[in-house]
Amino acid sequence: MATFGSLSTRLTETLAKLRTKGKLSAADVDGTVREIRRALLDADVALDVVKSFTAAVRERALGAEVSEALNPAQQVVKIVNDELIAILGGDSRRLELAKTPPTVIMLAGLQGAGKTTLAGKLAKHLRAQGHQPLLVASDLQRPNAVTQLQVVGSQAGVQVFAPEPGNGIGDPVKVARDGVAEAKRRQYDIVIVDTAGRLGVDAEMMKQAANIRKAVQPDEVLFVIDAMIGQDAVATAKAFQEGVDFTGVVLTKLDGDARGGAALSIRGLTGKPILFASTGEALDDFEPFHPDRMASRILD
Ligand code: GDP
Repeated sequence: MATFGSLSTRLTETLAKLRTKGKLSAADVDGTVREIRRALLDADVALDVVKSFTAAVRERALGAEVSEALNPAQQVVKIVNDELIAILGGDSRRLELAKTPPTVIMLAGLQGAGKTTLAGKLAKHLRAQGHQPLLVASDLQRPNAVTQLQVVGSQAGVQVFAPEPGNGIGDPVKVARDGVAEAKRRQYDIVIVDTAGRLGVDAEMMKQAANIRKAVQPDEVLFVIDAMIGQDAVATAKAFQEGVDFTGVVLTKLDGDARGGAALSIRGLTGKPILFASTGEALDDFEPFHPDRMASRILD
């Protein structure tokens, strides 16, 4: 995966160096852990996450049982793989559907994170599973956001609930509430509420998102984050966690060639599961997130 290009190369190179060794000394393990630490930091993985990751790898590698099946190098590769899976969230979690439809899914995140695009991707994905989603345009901040949602809605083959044009700037909370009411009336079983973001964390935006959350009581609040934002991921994720208390994460732009540290930090920083990954601009560039697959792509 391009996002992890250099991290992936460095980890595999570091681990490859162990291959010639019959037995690993404590110094070998320490050297390897140091290189892993540097590679993760250079990839913009958050410091706390790097620390707990390397501590776990070191402890397990030093204490590794002599294994019949794996040589020492293979054991370290397995430990790094296991720990990558652990920081990415262990098992994957699926979308939580409401017992009584409609399931309400709210999207939150900075402007440009990929929320509107994701709304279309998610709608298409859910429609293919036999659901009837309704998209709700509560991003009234960005002039083109409503039109953009209508475009992705028509590409995904789903309806969009939007404020009537020509009434000036509407109230995004009212639009969200009316959208959910419309979904109940027309028997849509899933409502996806797109909300406004700003370029940076902003009190006004966060209050609006919190008000939408309160008004529609979503079953899932998905925090959408651009995997390329580097160290800013820490502050952004924490601000959204406090502001809207999201239930899950969607990583976008995993097709980019940046360092991808956000992807590796987000679960450790927030404790919230990553549900989906977005890997391009087209509606089909989207997949449920599987920590084990991501880990093996990194160590490929
Ligand atoms: P929003 O402001 O959060 O609603 O973000 P948008 O959905 O408008 O997306 C911002 C830009 O990122 C658009 O140009 C999208 O086409 C692009 N984009 C969204 N998701 C991805 C992705 O996974 N990969 C890439 N390369 N571009 C994406």
